[in-house]
Amino acid sequence: MEAGGRMEGDNPLEFVWGLASLLGFMSIWNSAHPWLRELVSYEPGKPIEDVARELGLQPHEIIKLASNENPLGPSPKAVAAMREAVERAHFYPDGGGYYLREGIAEKFGLKRENVILGCGSNEIIEFVGKAFLKPGDEIITARHAFVVYKLMATLFGARTVEVEDPGFTHDLDAMAAAITPQTREVFIANPNNPTGTMVSQEEIDRFMEKVPPHVVVVFDEAYYEFVENPPDTLKYVREGRNVVVLRTFSKIQGLASLRIGYGLGPADLVSVLQKTRQPFNANGIGQAGALAGLLDEEHQAKTRALTIEGRDWMQGEFGALGLEYVPSWANFVLVKVGDGKAVFNALMKKGVIVRDMAAYGLPEWIRVSIGTMEQNRRFLDELRPLLGTVSA
Ligand SMILES: *Cc1c(COP(=O)(O)O)cnc(C)c1O
Repeated sequence: MEAGGRMEGDNPLEFVWGLASLLGFMSIWNSAHPWLRELVSYEPGKPIEDVARELGLQPHEIIKLASNENPLGPSPKAVAAMREAVERAHFYPDGGGYYLREGIAEKFGLKRENVILGCGSNEIIEFVGKAFLKPGDEIITARHAFVVYKLMATLFGARTVEVEDPGFTHDLDAMAAAITPQTREVFIANPNNPTGTMVSQEEIDRFMEKVPPHVVVVFDEAYYEFVENPPDTLKYVREGRNVVVLRTFSKIQGLASLRIGYGLGPADLVSVLQKTRQPFNANGIGQAGALAGLLDEEHQAKTRALTIEGRDWMQGEFGALGLEYVPSWANFVLVKVGDGKAVFNALMKKGVIVRDMAAYGLPEWIRVSIGTMEQNRRFLDELRPLLGTVSA
């Protein structure tokens, strides 16, 4: 009973609506964009706390090699900068991201107008969708490309054309050939996640010669700092081509929790993307930490060296075990273990979190991030006895 004495639900229309939605017609889904029904949620690496809770383990017994995070943790300089920034948490951040964009521009010989910040570089993938995609449009990706491109295209009702990637490497000639008048965007993850493969400067240059001006090319370079001589895609930004280069603070800088990434593009294109974002999409503590992390070359060099050492060792061990793996340019390796989901689950029970690849159509594979040497050894020690026992 409410204060006025009315019975709840005494409106006959309310009763009819309730019945209708119970029976499935007049679901709120009928009012939503129809393509949202196809949208599957992104499945992230399992957090340590979840595994501890579910399996009754202590968090310190668990290692997470599931999200390509930095095993050394954040840059100490970034941590110091964030401690200071916390004291100013009552102020809204600089929505224009002046200092961080200046710092990024200076590092790459560009102008601030060429830089846009995102809540992770993933948000910039969304901006590109918001700016250019509508129902009926197409984007092009490689078959085993980072899945977020397809998720974002689906969000805007666009179709994803997945081009075969022999040897798990983007086939840029085939991707160029797949461009139609409906194509709005082509995504090139370089190195790609989850395969770790890379395309060369020559392949990129040949591709760029064929791309018509109505297509925006997105080079996702989340792992480019791990590559010794990465291809130069910023030359296309300088030439004013319709190109967005994505980079992130989540990987080599060890700042994944800050959710700060950036896009580099011609000023005109960046000004389009700026229209699509919320005024304060990059938080202030994150901006302060990211700027300090950007300038901390020492931490990046240390992370790079540790990663390459661990990757060489791990790939060597896979080879010795007779396991097929994809030689990686990034801080993770894709390896074929038989029943990926079973191995993923068995490892998790031992306190080692990796990633199963069913969502990528690779049920026989797992992806493991490179950790400290101690973590890498622990992973292999737990993996060895599972091989052959966990059947496909
Ligand atoms: C990790 C990763 C990113 C980075 O995402 P953020 O939103 O910046 O954390 C982007 N692209 C690929 C391919 C990645 O693997």
